[in-house]
Amino acid sequence: SSTTSVNFIQAIINRDLAESKNEGRVHTRFPPEPNGYLHIGHAKSICLNFGLAAQYQGLCNLRFDDTNPSKEEVEYVESIQDDVRWLGFDWDDRMFYASDYFERLYEFAEQLIKQGKAYVCDLSAQEIKEFRGTLTEAGQNSPYRDRTVEENLRLFREMRAGAYEDGARVLRGKIDMASSNLNMRDPVLYRIQRASHHRTGDDWCIYPMYDFAHPLSDAIEQITHSICTLEFENHRPLYDWVLESCNINPGPQQIEFARLNLTFTVMSKRKLRQLVENGDVKGWDDPRMPTISGLRRRGYTPEAIKDFCERIGVAKSNSTVDISLLEHCIREDLNQRAPRAMCVLRPLKVILINYPENQIEMLPGEINPEDPGMGTRDLPFSRELYIEQEDFMEDPPKKYFRLSPGSEVRLKHAYIIKCVDVIKDPVTGEVKALHCTYDSETKSGMPQSGRKVKGTLHWVSAAHAVPAEVRLYDHLFLKENPDEEQGEDFTMNLNPHSLEVLEEALVEPALTEAAPGNKYQFLRQGYFCVDEKSSATSLVFNRVVSLKDSWGK
Ligand code: ATP
Ligand code: MG
Ligand code: MG
Repeated sequence: SSTTSVNFIQAIINRDLAESKNEGRVHTRFPPEPNGYLHIGHAKSICLNFGLAAQYQGLCNLRFDDTNPSKEEVEYVESIQDDVRWLGFDWDDRMFYASDYFERLYEFAEQLIKQGKAYVCDLSAQEIKEFRGTLTEAGQNSPYRDRTVEENLRLFREMRAGAYEDGARVLRGKIDMASSNLNMRDPVLYRIQRASHHRTGDDWCIYPMYDFAHPLSDAIEQITHSICTLEFENHRPLYDWVLESCNINPGPQQIEFARLNLTFTVMSKRKLRQLVENGDVKGWDDPRMPTISGLRRRGYTPEAIKDFCERIGVAKSNSTVDISLLEHCIREDLNQRAPRAMCVLRPLKVILINYPENQIEMLPGEINPEDPGMGTRDLPFSRELYIEQEDFMEDPPKKYFRLSPGSEVRLKHAYIIKCVDVIKDPVTGEVKALHCTYDSETKSGMPQSGRKVKGTLHWVSAAHAVPAEVRLYDHLFLKENPDEEQGEDFTMNLNPHSLEVLEEALVEPALTEAAPGNKYQFLRQGYFCVDEKSSATSLVFNRVVSLKDSWGK
């Protein structure tokens, strides 16, 4: 764990500090592209970047990497800020937009041209690709590679001024068409694209590419450690080339770590957007989504997510984390904090034939056995109750410890009851109600309170229970790795039973006060969160996770 061992990024930082590199500063950034909502993979990056800044008394910027106008929107910019804040991180006054640097990036590009390190190329995208060659075959120089500095400057300025069609020309770095690294074969630095930008509007018709904008944005913000995911490892020489060619020395250093993948879900904004747009889920914040907003609505806490990120750590090779570890983390957290309550998901009526009519008792129930300081709540008890349909069987197998004709169970915080009669629909034969007797000596504090029976059931009082809608969730996908099969449409692996809505659930009356976001443990059923659209007159609970922990099993 982080307190006893040092991960490879901390080791790099420790070495840098020992060498007094960057005047001993540690300055990281979290650089999302505002083209979708953040997911749990981003949470890993957020925890890492903000966490390192905190650990080393450094700084961490929030930077919108908004250099691709066609896919970016203000809605995403806002949701990203909400999500980072909700996780508990603070960028103070250090929120930036790469688009704020467009003018400076343009100046760097002119500087490269003047140094003979960049040229305007008229090849089409397809031709550029063909000329690039392959891993086994060197590339070919563009016929435009030897344009003079003057011509390149004139053309680039005309590109900016809007003289050419989209795609007609690009600016390329002049590096090495024979490099063993394809990214170094004269990469495109600027393209012409007429698209309104969410911040700069139509000010620009040329936009810098990621590989050009990112290192320079890092340099402008005086970032020391630029942490990104492993796919960018072979972009690092280009990252360094851009900085060096722009005479930035010393500059930030790029460090790559393995991205988070989770079983039974997908982790790319593009795929998540597809699910939203297809209507496969009910929005980015659908509680089945691995987005931060989805996890929040599902009932995950920032603490559980941070604990999860801490436990998975950072590594240099990709792997897939079992989603049951994430579930384990929220169980651990909610076990400590969530008040206990009773909710009957699929009600079956029980009539206690020897309990006085019109009598109501208020029975105390502990709010959280993990935290006796939370006290007790009052549970109304009366002659007519509801238990769970699945807690009764007319013909039980051996070792069935719930209710069946002639058997006894304890009702949690109340009495031992015995089933004496089964009332059925005369036509369908469906079980409509149970007649039971209760043993008045078995309440807590009474002489027989210690009498043992095998099963304990949850229940609610019929007259006092409050109706609620309960939503049960299962994995969004049926396969552990839904995008395993190359070329296969990952949506084929969607789980058709990922959402089950129970509209006739009943909860104990104290829950009328439950406010959106509140979390409970419903005895024997799991942890639940009040949905953000729930109200006192129409309660909605989302199941965060069941009680059964499969982590490490
Ligand atoms: P996606 O493919 O989901 O769009 P991305 O990397 O393109 O992911 P960005 O908005 O560019 O999304 O990501 C912002 C930061 O979050 C980057 O530094 C990126 O490396 C990091 N990040 C994105 N996905 C993951 C992941 N699955 N695990 C860890 N870090 C991630
Ligand atoms: Mg990206
Ligand atoms: Mg992406």
